[in-house]
Order: sequence, then C-alpha cells, then structure tokens
Amino acid sequence: MTELLDIRRIYVEPAAADLPRGKEVLARFPDAERVEVDSHQRIPELFGDETNVRRWVRIKREALVLGVKKSLTARPNGRSADFIAPSTANGCAMACAYCYVPRHKGYSNPITVFANIDKITGYLRRHVARQGVKLQPNQCDPQAWVYDIGENSDCSVDAHVSANVRDLVDTFRDLPTAKASFATKHVNRDLLGWDPRGRTRIRFSLMPAEDAKLLDIRTTPIAERIAAIDDFVEAGYEVHVNFSPVVVRDGWLPAWAELLEQLDDGIGPAAKAQLAAEVIMMTHNRELHQVNLGWHPKAEELLWRPDLQQPKRSQNGGWNVRYRTGDKGRYVAQLTGLIAERAPYCRVRYAF
Ligand code: SF4
Repeated sequence: MTELLDIRRIYVEPAAADLPRGKEVLARFPDAERVEVDSHQRIPELFGDETNVRRWVRIKREALVLGVKKSLTARPNGRSADFIAPSTANGCAMACAYCYVPRHKGYSNPITVFANIDKITGYLRRHVARQGVKLQPNQCDPQAWVYDIGENSDCSVDAHVSANVRDLVDTFRDLPTAKASFATKHVNRDLLGWDPRGRTRIRFSLMPAEDAKLLDIRTTPIAERIAAIDDFVEAGYEVHVNFSPVVVRDGWLPAWAELLEQLDDGIGPAAKAQLAAEVIMMTHNRELHQVNLGWHPKAEELLWRPDLQQPKRSQNGGWNVRYRTGDKGRYVAQLTGLIAERAPYCRVRYAF
C-alpha cells in the first residue's frame, strides 16, 4: 500500500457491494468499518469543512467510497485526449493547492471507486470499435484514439485501492486503434508488471521542485517522478510529461530551465525518443483562493497574482483567474522556446 492511505471506513452502496469488484475491494480492507449509503454522491460527512484541513486530509487517508457509475459516456475532448472515458474512480488522496476538483466535490474529496468496471470496459470496447481506424493524425496521437482514463482521479493512487486501473490497461492492450492515457503525480511501481504493450500513456506531471514542495501536497517528489520515467518506458508504457501547472513568479524561467536539465539528465535515449509534453498554464479560482488562505497562505503567494491575472466568470457563476491575455501567450512562447532549447527531443503536443 502507500502511506497516503490507511482505509478505516468504507461508505458503500449496496449495489456496489454485490458486484465482484465491490466484494474484492471490501475484502482488501477487512478491518474497515462499513457504512451503507444510498448514493455515493450524497455523503455530507465526507464533504469536509473548509476551515479544518487536518480533518479533510484525515478523510482522504481513511475514507473510501464504493459506488456504481450510473451514466456511461465518453466525452469528446480533442486537447490532451480524443475522448474522456467514463470514470472508474473519482476523488484523490493527494491535496494539491491548485486542484480544481475539490471545488466540485467537497474539500476532502476522498477516493470513490466504481464497482461496475465490466460495464465501463465493455462500453469502452464498443466505443473504440465504433470509431474505426483513426485516419487523421492530431495533437492527441498520430494513430490511436486516445482516451483519458483519469480525469477525476489519479490512476496511480487508485491502483492501490482496486484492480480497476489494471483492468483498463488490460483492456487497451488489446485495442490496436486506441490508447489509454492518464496524468499522475504519484509513482506506483506496481504498474511496472502489467505489460501494457504501448497502449497506455502515462503523463508524469512536472514542475520545478521548489514549486512542487509548496503546491503539490502529498504527492511523489519531482526527482522520484523523473527517476521513474525510464522504468515505465522499459515496462512498455508510453511516457509523456505534463508541464503543469506552470506558475509564473520571479525566477520562474530559470527554475524551469533547471527542471528541464534534471529531466535531460534523468532519462535515457529510449524515453527521449518517445517523449512529448503538454504545457498548461495555471488557472485559479476566487473561492479556492479563499479556502487556501485559511490553511496554506504561502501557496497563495504563488497562485493568486492579481497583478498578473485577469478574472473570467465561470459557467457555475464563480470567478476564475488566469494570466492576462497577451502576457499568457508570451509566457507560453518563453517556456516552449526553453523546451526546444534544453530538451529538443520533447515534442510539445499542446500548450495553453
Ligand atoms: S493529484 Fe490531481 S486530482 Fe489529486 S489533488 Fe493533485 S491535482 Fe487534484
């Protein structure tokens, strides 16, 4: 297991407990207390109190939710992936200061595992078959239809909890026209034995280590993520990197130059030959800023920069902020220029 998790209580929908995957997960944690719930989406005590960070980190570590995913759809995306696959989990045991997920699902946002994995993999197989062969290369992949399998969770951590991620990797191994893809901030070496045969892309998220120490709470240190890349390539994964989120501050470009140097020193020719990257500039949110001020004001000195950012009304009525138009394009050009100079083998799939 991992020090991230010490599951003491499982909130379980009866329908999930009846499924083979549900039974397996319950058997993995035989000492955990079971609490029956009507719906995995309505468990008020898990929402967490925005002012009590110790309590929500404890919920992350100790609580697990076991549910059934009701609606199965693969959403078109077109940026990082062609489609966002139906989730087999949501929530996260880590606690990155900029994470947008807690805004939607409560401050604690522990892991929810969906037990109807057979329905999900069956749906994906049919969806992939319906696409046929990919005729037009695009920024997601030149040949394969790419499915993001970890939009709402971190698959490397989910794999400590259930076999869902392994089932997905096994499913895509046999789908020559498609590829699974997920971003991660956690190194789980259990995945090295899964034989994905190039049909799963892992995107290790990277940022300068000094920023990660402040912002990427409970994640695997950056040096360890870089050190894992060769091993994952060797094990049959396609390994890309997500340079994200890119936080602009005094000295940010030299810090990114140092990170690119660490990456260059830390990976071998096989990894370099297949490497590509996404670059994602940081966006933030007023509500999250308020919450973070209560528990991690130092992070906000980096994340909340009204002098550099402009607000934009979000779909749900809140205020998001992002780097100012014009300046943002300049930052992206500076960073992609630096990548071209320091890691010229690393193709940038997209940057925004
Ligand atoms: S690892 Fe991803 S999902 Fe988890 S807290 Fe960090 S940003 Fe959010």
